[in-house]
Amino acid sequence: MAISIKISKTNQSRIKECDFENIEFGKIFSDHMFRVDYKDGMWQNPEILPYGNISISPALSSLHYGQAVFEGMKAFKDPSGNPQLFRPLDNYKRINQSAYRMGMPAITEELFIEGLSQLVKLDQDWIPTKEGSALYLRPFMFATDDFVGVRPSVNYTFMIFCCPVNSYYPKPIRVKVEKTYVRAFKGGVGFAKAAGNYGMSMLPTMEAKKEGFDQIVWTDGEEHKYVEESGTTNLFFVLNDKTVLTPEIDGNILQGVTRDSCIKLLREGGYDVVEKKISLKEIADAFNEGLLTDAFGTGTAALIAKIESIYNEGENYILPNAEDRKVSNWLYKKLSDVQTSKIIDTHNWVYQLV
Ligand SMILES: *Cc1c(COP(=O)(O)O)cnc(C)c1O
Repeated sequence: MAISIKISKTNQSRIKECDFENIEFGKIFSDHMFRVDYKDGMWQNPEILPYGNISISPALSSLHYGQAVFEGMKAFKDPSGNPQLFRPLDNYKRINQSAYRMGMPAITEELFIEGLSQLVKLDQDWIPTKEGSALYLRPFMFATDDFVGVRPSVNYTFMIFCCPVNSYYPKPIRVKVEKTYVRAFKGGVGFAKAAGNYGMSMLPTMEAKKEGFDQIVWTDGEEHKYVEESGTTNLFFVLNDKTVLTPEIDGNILQGVTRDSCIKLLREGGYDVVEKKISLKEIADAFNEGLLTDAFGTGTAALIAKIESIYNEGENYILPNAEDRKVSNWLYKKLSDVQTSKIIDTHNWVYQLV
């Protein structure tokens, strides 16, 4: 690698303060972070430094106009304790697709991959090894001009920090089909992991939580007839433990790396996976005919989040007990075994760091 990253190590590791058995998601940060700044049309001065606050101008343009994109990925340990990443090149490609849509510069592959690799190697003792745990990695890029005027920023910062995490949704979740608010529409930014997509989801999700649900299921913005995705997960519906339906990539939904991994593993496992537009009527019919045997969300944080029930305009479809879910239980085990190298990775998804 041609780039050289300046490394300033902490002299006060906080690792002893972390209780690796009971980690609150997203609240504990490893010792170091990566940072590189975009100035004069170039990424400059990449460095790894102790995790800590950064100083910003009140006029920081991303705070006002939302040029901010992010990624979510994980590092694991193999059975011998060596650190590894899962499909980092897919996250690298996706952050640049998001950045492009938001009028932001591309990060280079070298900076993204080397920044991640060196950071995770340095903080590898922070990778938890308990079942379902991992080191969650958060690469992100934001506009840094201190200028109050609506135009693309000239300066940007790209950073990565790490959070040790246990499993995200330990219990199956109750979801509500959302028919008032809209997440994405044709020509919009639904496919981008852009900060604003989450800002606008807060109110609808808060309202659903007040009604006793854990998450909402977004539907299409034109007719509210087709399901899109839920929170930060892509959706899968299983018919008769055999056919697996998932919404097609249409520019509205996030093209999940976990979604793609699941589709490939399911197909290899002999399941019929169909990527298409899925109507609420189709789900209601499947439920009423007793065919809906499983439903789950997929995403890096949650991996597989089983859905306990789906509330749709006065009807509540209650799915089989979590232990009886053939497909999601099989898939969870398969995927986490690949990520932690308990089984052979035949797809070149695992990126070893040593
Ligand atoms: C991140 C995200 C996903 C899942 O993507 P993964 O690459 O599998 O983590 C799905 N939907 C939304 C809206 C997301 O932000």
